[in-house]
Amino acid sequence: MKISGVTVWRKVLPLKQPYWLSGGRLKFETLDSTFVRIECSDGTVGWGEGCPWGNTYLPAFGDGTRAALALLAPVVIGEDPAGIGRLNRLMDEALPGHLYAKSPIDMALWDIAGKAAGQPLYQLFGGREGEAVDVNSSISTGTPEEMVALVETARANGYRVHSCKVGGSDPASDIARIEAIESARLRGEKITFDVNRAWTPAVAVEVMNSVSARGWFEQPCETYSQCLHVRNNAPQLIMLDECLHTFEDHLVAWRDSACEGVKVKPNRLGGLSKARQVRDFGVSVGWNMHIEDVGGTVLADTAAIHLALSTPETHRLGSWLCQPHLTDDFAHGLGARNVGGKITLTDTPGIGIEPAEEFLREPFAHYPG
Ligand code: MG
Repeated sequence: MKISGVTVWRKVLPLKQPYWLSGGRLKFETLDSTFVRIECSDGTVGWGEGCPWGNTYLPAFGDGTRAALALLAPVVIGEDPAGIGRLNRLMDEALPGHLYAKSPIDMALWDIAGKAAGQPLYQLFGGREGEAVDVNSSISTGTPEEMVALVETARANGYRVHSCKVGGSDPASDIARIEAIESARLRGEKITFDVNRAWTPAVAVEVMNSVSARGWFEQPCETYSQCLHVRNNAPQLIMLDECLHTFEDHLVAWRDSACEGVKVKPNRLGGLSKARQVRDFGVSVGWNMHIEDVGGTVLADTAAIHLALSTPETHRLGSWLCQPHLTDDFAHGLGARNVGGKITLTDTPGIGIEPAEEFLREPFAHYPG
């Protein structure tokens, strides 16, 4: 079997409500997603999706994905789709870096591998661990009262793991937010305060030494070195996210004892293959992980949940789903969904879900064999 063509679609995904990160520093109203279909000589197709969170969250953007795909599609066309590791190396040679742009191709290759094996991806990633993955909420920055109300709404929908977005310009407001949310926390609930890089090291050390919460604080500052400084001067558990890109970044973080956990996001790391490598390393060194994608429809959500579901339960915290934040849904009820705070997957081979062409409309580009 050979790869005979690659078709690319652009799809703008409106959010149901504007989403605020980093204490209101970053606002998002739509996402710019790119869908990839890899077509094979025997008629098999594989689907992938790459959806950065706007242009300001990471060094990644939709137009960048599609421009890179014009260089990457010819690299894989004519090749055997089963050689996923080799094709990743060829893509890295053809275009160093630009990890996010390679993710939808890698995802589509795994979809093909699952279909060829007649197995869901979680089986190829090590096998199912437990019945379901806990879903992780995403609480937009607001006043303490607004954020507590959002946690209560998420709780009513079954969420017991919460990611609360803090990191305003005023440390006193963040202390108030954190104290209000922490004092409303129920027994057994897990909360991560996600700062999304907003604090300077001084503010981070001040806030984290002022609050009563002793749980997870995520990506307090912009750079890895700043986060490491905070880690050495504050008592909480540290989760790293935006500052980790390559496998080597994760090795350095482990060597420095910089964190107790990491976010594992295929689109940030360069695809499911590289995310799986980080996941396996995280298990071996005892990290706790949130495994989810950066953004996208139920296709990207479901691909990431296959990786989460094949991760030992003692090493995973919860997985966020992007689809509930979107107005458009091409597969109502199918794929990875929140059912009472849990996500389960069927045994459909591959990712197990495909976007309809009526949803995607006209292709952005087609690269023929
Ligand atoms: Mg984060």
